[in-house]
Amino acid sequence: MPEADSRAPRRDIRQRDALRSPRFAQPATYARLPYEEDLTDVDAVFLGIPFDDATTFRSGARMGPAAVRENSRLLRPYNMFLDVSPFDVLNVVDHGDVDVVPGYIFDTFERVEAHLDRLCAARAVPFICGGDHSITLPVLRSLRRAHGPLHLIHFDSHLDFWDSYWGKKYTHGTWLRRVVEEGLVDSVAQAGIRGSQYAPDDLDFAHEHRIRVETIDAFFERGARAVMADILAGVPADAPLYISWDIDVVDPAFASGTGTPEVGGLSAWDAVQCVRSLVGHRLVGMDVVEVAPPYDGPGAPTSLLAANLLYEAISVLAKNSGAGVRAFAAGAEKGGSA
Ligand code: MN
Ligand code: MN
Repeated sequence: MPEADSRAPRRDIRQRDALRSPRFAQPATYARLPYEEDLTDVDAVFLGIPFDDATTFRSGARMGPAAVRENSRLLRPYNMFLDVSPFDVLNVVDHGDVDVVPGYIFDTFERVEAHLDRLCAARAVPFICGGDHSITLPVLRSLRRAHGPLHLIHFDSHLDFWDSYWGKKYTHGTWLRRVVEEGLVDSVAQAGIRGSQYAPDDLDFAHEHRIRVETIDAFFERGARAVMADILAGVPADAPLYISWDIDVVDPAFASGTGTPEVGGLSAWDAVQCVRSLVGHRLVGMDVVEVAPPYDGPGAPTSLLAANLLYEAISVLAKNSGAGVRAFAAGAEKGGSA
């Protein structure tokens, strides 16, 4: 094989132009970006992880990535609130899905870690759609190898750090305890916690491990922007920051398409504001999990919101790139390196 020409011009990857190709036409890819396995010159990817065998109640999140792709067709090139055209700044592709192993969580975790290791080696920032919340554990194992201990902001109505379900340690309700036990994180902040618990001592783990817990009351009392400012005050701007969204943090009135809904949550607007507030912080990846299309409402608002949260996060990465804030510690993974 001939050697790759190191002087080859950087690829310029764009959305399909909806003013030429109607947005309801063509197979669904995330934001009408190209489906691409080649990671050359790719700065960020949409990646599906369609595994939902670790749910403790209603399954269905394995259908999340397909529904989010279908409901991402309306995403336009310019983000007016962050004043950035993310796909002008960054090369972003739809990198398909991890080929999970239904019914086999450890085999699936292995595949997720291997896939994320390849993305990190190519310096591509992952924007992930689950799948149930168990998949965040193998994602963080890989990102910790690439970036060192991470700062994690976990949006969820649930604590997700119970020790076990039915004597089993790996479920969508226990992944966060494993993350802490494995030393993958420097800090954890949880936001939007609510609903009924098992016992008064359910929060002891958070106190013992200095996990910051912002319940839903904080959002209603102080507003999303103030809560985010407080959380982010505890995260050094140059520290690797990962965001995990369990879509059930959003009120079921806005996002009913999930397996374990809890009443009285964030609005869709609150959620979007939370993502926009990340500008200036070293975002190394984000996931949106627990989108279960079989329970979604007419118009698929849950999938639509998940598609938009990922778009806002990609916009943050693009905005950061313009300001010289890099996801990877050294090198030029962003546009304009040619
Ligand atoms: Mn949850
Ligand atoms: Mn969760």
